[in-house]
Amino acid sequence: MKTDFVKRLIEICGSEHVLRSPEAIELYSRCTIPWSRTCGAVALPDNVDQVSRIVQLCNEYGTPVWTFSRGHNWGYGTVLALQQGALILILRRMNRIHEVNEELCYAVVEPGVSQGQLNGYLKSKGFNLWIDCTDSSPDGSLIGNALDKGVGYTPYGDHFGNLCGMEVVLANGQVVTTGGVSKQCPTRHIYQWGVGPCIDGLFAQSSLGIVTKAGLWLMPKPEAFEMFVIGISDPKPLAPVIDAQRKLALRGIISHCHGFNAFLALARSIGYPSHLLDGKQLLDKEVIEQLAAEQGLPPWTFVGGIYGTSRQVRTNKREIAKYLSRLGHLVFIGELSQKSLNRIVEGVRRPGFHGAFYRGLKSFLHLFVDRISTKTIESLLALYPILRGEPNEDILAAAYFKNKERQPKENLDPARDACGLIFFAPILPAIGNEIQVFLQNIERICSSNHFETAVLLIQSNPRTFIVLVPLFFDRTNAEEAERCQRTYDQLCEFLKIHHYQQYRCTTPQMDNILQDNPSYQDFMKKIKLAIDPNHIIAAGRYGV
Ligand SMILES: Cc1cc2nc3c(=O)[nH]c(=O)nc-3n(C[C@H](O)[C@H](O)[C@H](O)COP(=O)(O)OP(=O)(O)OC[C@H]3O[C@@H](n4cnc5c(N)ncnc54)[C@H](O)[C@@H]3O)c2cc1C
Repeated sequence: MKTDFVKRLIEICGSEHVLRSPEAIELYSRCTIPWSRTCGAVALPDNVDQVSRIVQLCNEYGTPVWTFSRGHNWGYGTVLALQQGALILILRRMNRIHEVNEELCYAVVEPGVSQGQLNGYLKSKGFNLWIDCTDSSPDGSLIGNALDKGVGYTPYGDHFGNLCGMEVVLANGQVVTTGGVSKQCPTRHIYQWGVGPCIDGLFAQSSLGIVTKAGLWLMPKPEAFEMFVIGISDPKPLAPVIDAQRKLALRGIISHCHGFNAFLALARSIGYPSHLLDGKQLLDKEVIEQLAAEQGLPPWTFVGGIYGTSRQVRTNKREIAKYLSRLGHLVFIGELSQKSLNRIVEGVRRPGFHGAFYRGLKSFLHLFVDRISTKTIESLLALYPILRGEPNEDILAAAYFKNKERQPKENLDPARDACGLIFFAPILPAIGNEIQVFLQNIERICSSNHFETAVLLIQSNPRTFIVLVPLFFDRTNAEEAERCQRTYDQLCEFLKIHHYQQYRCTTPQMDNILQDNPSYQDFMKKIKLAIDPNHIIAAGRYGV
């Protein structure tokens, strides 16, 4: 990186906001996937004017620039650019909440606003509004996640679908606003289509601009809320469960349910049991079943939220029971039962008489659910606040599955802590049999490479499921890291053959992602050339 480029960058951002030390470069070049790129510098701009001046500077010097909001895209690429020596922009200082409109249920925020920050702000100011959050870090960015088409748990779980009216810096430094005929247009953040072609989609998973502000739709706090959990003790009815969830979602009764297999649930609650490998590279099925049984984990567990007026929640619970209760063990958890369960989980850990009392209460629970460990109850309960838009770090702990000894108590950061994780994230039609057959193939590919199969099924909309497969590996083991990459490549090849797509992919995979749709890629490249002729912004991102 040229000295006078850095000098001018410092003039724009201030010296403390341009990171160049070897320690900083090393820290910001860390990633959970087995791939490496070293950045040239990291800049932390404070406002849209600085972002605009930085891209103009990059154009002048031909320096590639990659932008991240808070930079927690673990499992896909964290803050790595495709090009060596690129400038990395992290917008975490741009964390202003410009507006919250309670009547029309939206907020206008900058990319540095985290999900924890907005949730805390709404609560502290007494707004009757909920955010939709992911089960990733509370420190994750709302805009960054939405721009990467992230998914949450409530009816507002399609994050890009709930952005409205953006401010975007283009490669020549020009600032474009979308969603209205003027910046002052009163419907800019509440009517997504604006007038004329709707261009917001051009900035999702994109190399066409840097989003510096956006409107975000929020959910009016519902009068009533309950969580449902269904445990499926026999994996055979997985297909009918998926079909039932599609039918329920198409009728607006549920949305964005998440289902996880027992192996993924284990990854959340214990470290990888390498002592049970018995000289092999892969845990035996029986060993996994035994571990799951010890934790009271059924082969599959699905969770979702029920939101509405008290009457709506009562009616929807009846509908959910009608469709799901014959397929597994269905439990509803409301405010009261959540509090009691939390008290039991806390209580069993106490010594003496108090602990004994709660242990007695917990064994009473076994009458209703199979022998279920305190850890399992605890991790199910951790989802309860997430379903209400209150993020926590409980699920993020799964990223430390093969690196438990480095898991801190709080402020988790899997890239910083050298966790090995690649997310394979295909998206499939919400057809039970199709997903079940697909999963058999995924399992075959994983086990032939000596990896167990962890799966999270995410209902991305009523018609599709993301079949998320986290591939955990030990970063200190070069052979395992290489094998993990090979597994991911084979999984991607399998998708290609069957014409499925991923909803999000790793940075090195982006090169191949549009190979089979040349007309779309060609069109996107023409747009790119027209607005970023020097290919300054994130060149190669998602194949453009
Ligand atoms: C255990 C675990 C659980 C997870 N759970 C979820 C989940 O429930 N849902 C989910 O969606 N993800 C999940 N993730 C993935 C990831 O952690 C989140 O998506 C996270 O929100 C991404 O980080 P970020 O918000 O800091 O976004 P960033 O990393 O800042 O941004 C994401 C991407 O968008 C682009 N981008 C960011 N900001 C801008 C901008 N201003 N202009 C233009 N482009 C931009 C960047 O290229 C970047 O790669 C999980 C990860 C782990 C390890």
